[in-house]
Amino acid sequence: MRLSRYFLPVTKETPADAQIVSHKLMLRAGLVRQTAAGIYAWLPLGQRVLKKIEQIVREEQDRAGAVELLMPTLQSAELWRQSGRYDAYGPEMLRIRDRHDRDMLYGPTNEEMITQIFLGNVKSYRDLPRILYHIQWKFRDEVRPRFGVMRGREFLMKDAYSFDLDEAGGRHSYNRMFVAYLNTFARMGLRAIPMQADTGPIGGDLSHEFIILAPSGESEVFYHSNWEKAPELSAVDFDDVAGLQSIVDGYTADYAATDEKRDADREAAAGEALRQSRGVEVGHIFFFGTKYSGSMGMSVQTKDGTNVYPQMGSYGVGVSRLMGAIIEASHDDAGIIWPESVAPYKVGLVNMRVDDAACSAAADDLYRKLESAGVETLYDDRDERGGAKFATMDVIGLPWQLIIGPKGLEKGVVELKRRATGEREELSIDSALKRLG
Ligand code: ATP
Ligand code: MG
Ligand code: MG
Ligand code: MG
Repeated sequence: MRLSRYFLPVTKETPADAQIVSHKLMLRAGLVRQTAAGIYAWLPLGQRVLKKIEQIVREEQDRAGAVELLMPTLQSAELWRQSGRYDAYGPEMLRIRDRHDRDMLYGPTNEEMITQIFLGNVKSYRDLPRILYHIQWKFRDEVRPRFGVMRGREFLMKDAYSFDLDEAGGRHSYNRMFVAYLNTFARMGLRAIPMQADTGPIGGDLSHEFIILAPSGESEVFYHSNWEKAPELSAVDFDDVAGLQSIVDGYTADYAATDEKRDADREAAAGEALRQSRGVEVGHIFFFGTKYSGSMGMSVQTKDGTNVYPQMGSYGVGVSRLMGAIIEASHDDAGIIWPESVAPYKVGLVNMRVDDAACSAAADDLYRKLESAGVETLYDDRDERGGAKFATMDVIGLPWQLIIGPKGLEKGVVELKRRATGEREELSIDSALKRLG
């Protein structure tokens, strides 16, 4: 992409309500613009990152055996009256009335809808187990939307729902999602700690929040210092029930809990190794048994002809919140440092002298070669000072900057800068291409 044709409104100033670094940098780097409280437009660069995050989430859901579908944002109130949640949900639900005076709502989550769609269309044990997911915009009328996309009102979520015949099956589905989440966040360069989380009125101990440690986080968390080392992930057979359980057991052996689920005995056992911090909830998995299948009266027939309410779980990832969390975890004074897996472009190609015919010809040629090698490149071909171009590249945080100027060209070299470390290296155009290709 040529920057001269792009839409990248990079700014130096940020509004006073942008308190945390990720919010400031998302505005400065031209990723998003707020259009109403807690509602954001995703500008071209931000949209690319969002798609990359979404795609990693999707690939890991698929790998774990979940199946994608797409449900609408608008839902009918009727559905929520069946489960009893229409009244229970409270003011976070955006309620809408259509022209025929029917009560509608903008979905804050989809348990009721998926239950109706799936269990309304299958009748037998042969159709279970299943895990279905979608990646869709949600609306929650948060009292205090803040921190940019971290707590928006409209936000993108991946939500998955599992259906099993019995509790053991439900536990296996839960474990699939647990391990899928570890893989998902690791691919984004994040260390997410699975923490025992509150299950609310339903009880049980099967709920984990996946938390990224960050001083700006809204959750208060407690954990064993063993979590400070990044755990190893290895290849996983998601169909291996016992194997998956032992991986989950391994990941839950060391104490980690949100403040609602603190455990005095386990904290005493951790002793000196107990840590307290703040964190960002990027995912939440939850086993809730027959709450929705039962309240909505949707059963399936078992092998011996009796009817059972399927055991269900739900599994959320904050896709848009993750963008903020990744920036919180990866930036410096000059701007964002994208992990390569979610970077909007891999390379920023900087032409230092647009007015120099030889330099521009070489830069154009290099750009074409990068493109045809499939290297995602943002090409700064604008008539701007070098300093301004470097500042733009630094703030938008592409992993590599490739700088081409008349002096280097005389010697047959270009400069390659790695954004994360600031390391610079002169090399021939061919070796630069080989390195990035
Ligand atoms: P929080 O505690 O931050 O309010 P939640 O527990 O209400 O989140 P869940 O219902 O568990 O959220 O939704 C699944 C995921 O959706 C969360 O783990 C989080 O990553 C994301 N999420 C929830 N609310 C928001 C929001 N207002 N803006 C952006 N992402 C959100
Ligand atoms: Mg909430
Ligand atoms: Mg929460
Ligand atoms: Mg939650």
